[in-house]
Amino acid sequence: MNFVVHYQPLIELKSGICVGAEALVRWRRPDGTMVRPDLFIPLAEESGLILPITDQVIEAVIADLGTTLVADRSLHVAVNFCADDIRTGRMLPILEHKLRNAGIRPQQIWLEATERGFIDIEAARATMSRARAMGHSVAIDDFGTGYSSLQYLQDLPLDALKIDKSFIDTIGKGSATSSVTPHIIAMAKTLGLFTVAEGIETQEQADYLIDQAVGFGQGWLYARPLPAKAFIAFHQQNQASKGIAPEVLRAAP
Ligand code: C2E
Ligand code: CA
Ligand code: CA
Repeated sequence: MNFVVHYQPLIELKSGICVGAEALVRWRRPDGTMVRPDLFIPLAEESGLILPITDQVIEAVIADLGTTLVADRSLHVAVNFCADDIRTGRMLPILEHKLRNAGIRPQQIWLEATERGFIDIEAARATMSRARAMGHSVAIDDFGTGYSSLQYLQDLPLDALKIDKSFIDTIGKGSATSSVTPHIIAMAKTLGLFTVAEGIETQEQADYLIDQAVGFGQGWLYARPLPAKAFIAFHQQNQASKGIAPEVLRAAP
């Protein structure tokens, strides 16, 4: 099967600076059309085929963005780990080896895990601890949609919570779930974690999130998931518009 990876910019909400990207896989069919991951990932996970997908995504990140990541050490890429990766931690030594060869720092790769990977919570905790000891940041994805209680979350070795798009969608709509959104944000803050809002589509949503001191966000308001070349161009343009010199120049005496 032929996979390609697109990159959705991750934005520091207050400044508008692009601090990284999330790697999102697509399946390219022989006729060139793209299949969205929610249509094939669940199937692939059940059949065990997902393991090679994570490997391929990491390969793609290194091939597509390796040079960019080496040139800008402040940039990171978030990779989605499937439930099995979180349970077994199988990917970690492979990741370590590949990153070392490419000269990418582990701090530049963030791992995202959904609560589907927490069925065996002790196994998940072990993988997350190992990942953090290696230098990666770990985020809970789709936060708010699972069964997370504050109590078990505060025991988990975590760096960030990604607030699910369904909560962002309700901002400004006055619907029942929208009253939950501030609590979800407050929960993340209580835990002392970075917060990332997913699926920001309107300026109104962005303004609300900034007001609530949510640190980071991604969504169509800023950029859709982009092919690698388009992401690199977006990042360069973003840096230029924010008056940030490329890292290479900044490092010069
Ligand atoms: P996710 O990790 O929650 O990814 C966020 C999804 O929201 C992405 O859908 C992204 O394209 C979409 N999105 C971002 N901003 C907006 C917005 O403003 N509006 C709308 N309507 N959508 C937005 P995508 O790319 O279709 O991915 C769907 C899911 O597939 C992901 O959800 C993730 O769970 C899974 N997935 C994607 N790539 C991988 C991968 O490499 N490995 C694994 N295990 N799962 C992956
Ligand atoms: Ca994700
Ligand atoms: Ca999500």
